[in-house]
Amino acid sequence: MDKIAIIGAGTMGNGIAHVCSQHDLKVTLVDIKQEFLDRAMEKIKKNMGRELKKERITQEKMDASLANITTSTNLDAVSGAEFVVEAATENLDIKLELFEKLDKACAPDVILATNTSSLPITKVASATNRPDKVIGMHFMNPVPMMKLVEVIRGMATSDETYKTVEEFATKLGKTPIEVNDYPGFIANRILLPMINEATFALFEGVGTAEAIDNVMKLGMAHPMGPLTLADFIGLDVCLAILEVMHEGFGDPKYRPCPLLVKMVQAGYLGRKTGRGFYDYSKK
Ligand code: NAD
Repeated sequence: MDKIAIIGAGTMGNGIAHVCSQHDLKVTLVDIKQEFLDRAMEKIKKNMGRELKKERITQEKMDASLANITTSTNLDAVSGAEFVVEAATENLDIKLELFEKLDKACAPDVILATNTSSLPITKVASATNRPDKVIGMHFMNPVPMMKLVEVIRGMATSDETYKTVEEFATKLGKTPIEVNDYPGFIANRILLPMINEATFALFEGVGTAEAIDNVMKLGMAHPMGPLTLADFIGLDVCLAILEVMHEGFGDPKYRPCPLLVKMVQAGYLGRKTGRGFYDYSKK
């Protein structure tokens, strides 16, 4: 495989492009606005610059990797790709529309993977005429650092597709883990109830954000407290995943904390907007 298309150039899309470009793949990065693509390229340059400073990569490797990435605001740019990873906004309607278009734009043998955190792969696959070639490829944030990729089989995903994606993830230096298609998969089914509970603890005044995070860091040896992690993931993404699990299981234990809902309404989405549970505007 030489050519890959990545749809969505946000937090995850730019990370996936970063890693793929360093594994000698020609990457086409697609988003809806040029400014989002420019911002993604800046982020990739900044992150690779850090790797260069730490002597993890050479200047030549950085230049060659950056030269592997082209950007486009036109979805038709995916037409030459041999593999697609969709990392657009966590919204079922957006993904269904995208997969319908990707199905038309790509050659019939191309695998269409989605990086969704929680949405049903089986449903996303139903928007295409190739459900056997649709699969979940759930990278973790930040993609260049994190080893895990959850590989999620939809109901119709073929063994061949699964094997190709497992090999591809391994080639990228990641560790693929097979997961079945239930809301939140494994990672977020366990992580998001913890983040939600931490938000309830803050909401009910059990402790400050710092206290809650420090208890989990010092008491449970978590490298990062749940509220810091939520800011890092994006509070809108956290809320979207909780809503999918709440609806998908019909179980009130997944109901999003009203404080989380309110913060998203206010646009306090975490690091990406400069404010979430913590204030990043001065850093
Ligand atoms: P983000 O909001 O940072 O970026 C999403 C990007 O998708 C935006 O730039 C947006 O303009 C673009 N987009 C929206 N509609 C599009 C379309 N029709 N065509 C092309 N681009 C489009 O979101 P993110 O955090 O990068 O999340 C992307 C996906 O990855 C989601 O499915 C999310 O659940 C998943 N994910 C997120 C994380 C995380 O920690 N943030 C971790 C794993 C998986």
